[in-house]
Amino acid sequence: MTKPAAPPTLFERIIAREIPAEIVYEDEGYIAIKDIAPKAPVHLLVIPKTLSTRLDEISDAATLGQLYLTAIKVARQHLEDYRLVVNVGKGGGQEVFHTHIHVLGGWEGGSPVGFGA
Ligand code: AMP
Repeated sequence: MTKPAAPPTLFERIIAREIPAEIVYEDEGYIAIKDIAPKAPVHLLVIPKTLSTRLDEISDAATLGQLYLTAIKVARQHLEDYRLVVNVGKGGGQEVFHTHIHVLGGWEGGSPVGFGA
């Protein structure tokens, strides 16, 4: 018996314009949106259009590198200094199982202490 197709992830639905989001960047392979519940004055999510559920599912260096290059490009369009965060797995704080990089910044006087997103 064939496995039923997994329902689309939240981010796939945003990419398909089924769910609204504030899109700040898009190219063939990636989309970047404003986080709906920002944890910093600037909080963006950089999302590959090709689904992987978590960062460590990506085993190809070029794919991983392109994801980070895109996150840096998006970050630098909005911020001079910034923090990139990836939550990996439930225990790592991941809630949406579609790989994404958080871009955080814009704090007055620099980044607060700690690594929480
Ligand atoms: P993570 O916990 O690393 O999986 O991050 C998921 C992020 O997605 C959280 O920071 C949420 O605030 C954010 N989020 C959830 N729903 C939406 C949405 N509809 N639009 C934009 N961001 C969202």
